Amino acid sequence: MTEQGVTPRSEDYSRWYNDVVKMADLADYAPVRGCMIIKPYGYELWEGIQAGLDRRFKATGHKNAYFPLFIPMSFIEKEAEHIEGFAPELAVVTHVGGKKLDEPLVVRPTSETVIGHAYAQWIHSYRDLPVLINQWANVVRWEMRPRLFLRTTEFLWQEGHTAHATKVEAVEETMRMLDIYADFAVSEAAIPVIKGRKSTQEKFAGAEASYSIEAMMGNTWALQSGTSHYLGQNFAKAFDIKFLDEENELQYCYTTSWGMSTRMVGGIVMAHGDDKGLRLPPRLAPIQVVIVPIWRSNDQKDTVMEAISRLQRELVDAGIRVHVDSREGLTPGFKFNDWEMRGVPLRMEIGPRDVQSGTAVLARRDILGKDGKQSVSQDGIAETINGLLVEIQDNMFAQATEFRDAHLHRASTYDELKEIVTDGWALIPHCGSAECEARIKEETKASSRCFPLEENKDFDVSGAVCPVCGKPAVGLAYFARAY
Ligand SMILES: [Zn+2]
Repeated sequence: MTEQGVTPRSEDYSRWYNDVVKMADLADYAPVRGCMIIKPYGYELWEGIQAGLDRRFKATGHKNAYFPLFIPMSFIEKEAEHIEGFAPELAVVTHVGGKKLDEPLVVRPTSETVIGHAYAQWIHSYRDLPVLINQWANVVRWEMRPRLFLRTTEFLWQEGHTAHATKVEAVEETMRMLDIYADFAVSEAAIPVIKGRKSTQEKFAGAEASYSIEAMMGNTWALQSGTSHYLGQNFAKAFDIKFLDEENELQYCYTTSWGMSTRMVGGIVMAHGDDKGLRLPPRLAPIQVVIVPIWRSNDQKDTVMEAISRLQRELVDAGIRVHVDSREGLTPGFKFNDWEMRGVPLRMEIGPRDVQSGTAVLARRDILGKDGKQSVSQDGIAETINGLLVEIQDNMFAQATEFRDAHLHRASTYDELKEIVTDGWALIPHCGSAECEARIKEETKASSRCFPLEENKDFDVSGAVCPVCGKPAVGLAYFARAY
């Protein structure tokens, strides 16, 4: 980071990201490589994400439960694709209490197996279904190239696991949760997302089909921000999750799993941040309004602080998250920069003249400079601020959408794809083959993001050809550089 602040994004985007995460006090690296210390400001942001998701899960009939951190190695090995996919990332406990274990224990990388084991004990009849459970937990996937929030060896997340009597119900659940993630991203994080199906190569190890929401970051790279998997009967067969149907016949359940993690914090930083630092959407910002008192003499200080504590009470009563920056020995200018860097959506300045005239100055983080600054009456201040917070939230979503849409392009040749993915996402008719995907990644560093649901609705695949390999296309797919 430089003396003045964060490294400009145009100079070094990855350095900019690290600067913002560290200077805004979100997180820090831990003694064990790849692990992360989430600091209070970063954790408050995560708590906002948790609250927004948890509310939506419960409104759709899900309940929270908790399953163990340790999983017997034999569990992970039961589903063939699952172990193949996760083996390279597993952390394994071989010794406990000074003794070697007969069977090693895996620190959970995800909980399909241990939850599948429990469901097999719980589910007996169609009357026990559906089972709709979510767990808030930490998981461990050993990470070779860690990045704070985006890729860490241990991360926090929620994982939903459901069991159903029919395929139709399980597929419906998979899509319902994908929609919930998209709704959360759009209405709380102010991030536009593309919902789509992952390619066979990119799907979850053990799933029949995986779906994701993909968000565009400030450097046009993609971030997979939430996933929802239709697991078919794969885990039900591996763990014997069976039920007697209405005809008294024994059937295997259909299961799903879905998750969103602390990655989303990194997504918010990169989707909205600018060269001044973080910009937080009001719905999730730990502090929505920061009040900076301005005075020169002690007399002025008393009258200013008196007015501020009255306004603060009014805002708190209205449910607005407010912080008063009464730190001594720092200039107002320093404080302005500091809170801009920390991404607080709205700043209120109050000086002796404002007290006298019954006004306050409000400055928006989403519109810097004169255009985002206004003097307002102290009367009805909570209503004024609530209105502005909604405007800021909407404007941030509009800005992110405009940026993203300007960087989404159709490509009809491989050369066009190569050009587009240097600064955007390319949509092509794709064959879906592993070799073709691998070739594109090798030659352009762009990976298959998804087959977007919306774009594929009206797309006629008959006669469509993959411009990379010339084989028949199975649908339209986005390719992009990704985290
Ligand atoms: Zn191809």
